[in-house]
Amino acid sequence: MTLPLKHFFELPEGILYLDGNSLGPLPKGVAEKVQAAVMQEWGETLIGGWNQCGWMAQPGRVGDRVGRLIGAPEGSVVMGDTLSIKVFQALAAALAMRPDRRVILSDTGNFPTDLYMAEGLIALKNAGYTLRTVAPEDVADAIDHQTAAVMLTEVDYRTGRKHDMTEITRRAQDAGAVMIWDLAHSAGALEVDLTAAGCEFAVGCTYKYLNGGPGAPAFIYVRPDLTLKVEPALAGWLGHRAPFDFDPSYTPAPSVERMRVGTPPVLQMTALEEALKLWDDVDMAELRQTSLALSEMFIAEVEAGCPDLQLVSPRDGAQRGSQVSFAFEHGYAAMQALIARGVIGDFRAPDVMRFGFTPLYLDENDVRAAAAILTEVIRDGLWDDPAYQRKGAVT
Ligand SMILES: *Cc1c(COP(=O)(O)O)cnc(C)c1O
Repeated sequence: MTLPLKHFFELPEGILYLDGNSLGPLPKGVAEKVQAAVMQEWGETLIGGWNQCGWMAQPGRVGDRVGRLIGAPEGSVVMGDTLSIKVFQALAAALAMRPDRRVILSDTGNFPTDLYMAEGLIALKNAGYTLRTVAPEDVADAIDHQTAAVMLTEVDYRTGRKHDMTEITRRAQDAGAVMIWDLAHSAGALEVDLTAAGCEFAVGCTYKYLNGGPGAPAFIYVRPDLTLKVEPALAGWLGHRAPFDFDPSYTPAPSVERMRVGTPPVLQMTALEEALKLWDDVDMAELRQTSLALSEMFIAEVEAGCPDLQLVSPRDGAQRGSQVSFAFEHGYAAMQALIARGVIGDFRAPDVMRFGFTPLYLDENDVRAAAAILTEVIRDGLWDDPAYQRKGAVT
């Protein structure tokens, strides 16, 4: 394989897409596959699709495909719901494993929903739990014998800062805490080896670097030795050992399927299953190297052309995920000006312009062109136009 694999994607002409970290583009073949699932599977087999078309086994089957990209063995990953729900499930299971501890530790850079889910769970349990957040660089030293669970996102959604997964997992476990990793900005962006890291739980979404489409289901990983021990807090019928026994009392499935909740989003998962096929041709080490090279090139060109922009991502590639962020006072308007010129990145409050580097469909020429357009927008003050100040519901 040689990157990029642009021919695998339906990309609009004239667009430089630096936002695959938020919503991956449409891989070729997905539209046809979804069309067939609608017309033939749903349209013709009707209710029979659950058995005849493999819909019921899909969450585990697709989970195994995702597992291959994150160093998880067969049968340790299952798909479903949204990442927020999977965070809740992992955290609830982790707390149940450490009943005499009361602190959830996270960092101040974590994605808000992860923190909200923790707060919601704490309120629900009403048993003296606290959520403690510290600066990302202080997490390892903040773990102590009160810590029930350490819950972190490996790559910071705003800055791209990357935690050392193996080291923090070791520190958590040395202190007797359970480790949960959120791989939202890792899966499909860089090499992840959950088996080597040894964490108890991992969760992530599939509409970012895995290109599963808007609303694609999330995944959860449970370390294989814990599968039969975890207590599902969301005891849904499809996590039951035998859903179609319609047993009035709940017995969890003897597999990672116990982390399933309700009816899977079949059409959405069909899109994802097809989108994941392209990864069979990708060497993650090459992908990572290329992403770092592209990111470094972008940083150099933007710093040379736009002295007003301040790099907020780590300069050292080893400490960065697959995105580069710059702070700029007029970042929102500048991003709108950039999008109007065909360079799509995104904005994160209060002042961060964020650019994702996905070597599957970006090459050096694209990066140079994007940096040149950004330089023009900043140097010539092209962002200073009322049209670029209006905010949509989604930034
Ligand atoms: C994108 C992202 C989410 C989104 O959660 P959803 O439930 O899928 O909307 C959650 N956490 C992190 C760290 C993310 O980057």
